[in-house]
Amino acid sequence: MVEIMPGVHQIEGVNANSYLILENDGSLTLIDAGTSTGGKKILEYVKTTLSKQPTDLKILVVTHAHIDHIRGASAIKKSTGAKVMIHEQDADFLSGKKKLPPPRGAVGFIFRLFSVFFRSSPVEPDVRLKENDKIGSSLTVFHTPGHTPGSITLYDQKRKLVFVGDAITNRGAKLQGSIKQFSSDLHMADRSVEKISSLDFETLLSGHGDPLRSGGAQKVRELSESLKKK
Ligand SMILES: [Zn+2]
Ligand SMILES: [Zn+2]
Repeated sequence: MVEIMPGVHQIEGVNANSYLILENDGSLTLIDAGTSTGGKKILEYVKTTLSKQPTDLKILVVTHAHIDHIRGASAIKKSTGAKVMIHEQDADFLSGKKKLPPPRGAVGFIFRLFSVFFRSSPVEPDVRLKENDKIGSSLTVFHTPGHTPGSITLYDQKRKLVFVGDAITNRGAKLQGSIKQFSSDLHMADRSVEKISSLDFETLLSGHGDPLRSGGAQKVRELSESLKKK
């Protein structure tokens, strides 16, 4: 349980990181829904740590439609009534109308073998997001495809903060781009890293790994340069 900065919380132990934002009107915005089918840890955090009601959670925005970010979505929507938002190009993967291709190589083989365990209940999104859409009191949507077709980065200009989903991961103080086996288009993913690097921010919060608390934009610029040299 971590308050990264005033009003921004990270919920740990849900495999892919989930983040909660306390909005100006006292409501909550959840970024990504974690792996647990019941969204239990997230709801527990809302009640116990934040002393809020499940119905205070008004918005669930998912950075992309991979299972580790959407599995809790259906249960969270049911128990909170939150509006579910996802980029229009990933929306059909969330609603179950289309399937994302499985990961490449050995990972894909294992994934297919165990796919029955990776299923989630489909959720019909309430809002199909586009570039520059505003969410809650602070977030702007940037389309940063490549990890999946509809991957987004959420930018909080006032807090100088970006939520990048799996477009960039911070592990052991080292940034890496979208992981090859899980990317729908690596070239596009590299261009999205460049796009993120043009934003003005200090803190970077990724779908996996640790918070990067300072010098975020500079480090993403360095990552972008190193990806170009590959
Ligand atoms: Zn992930
Ligand atoms: Zn992913």
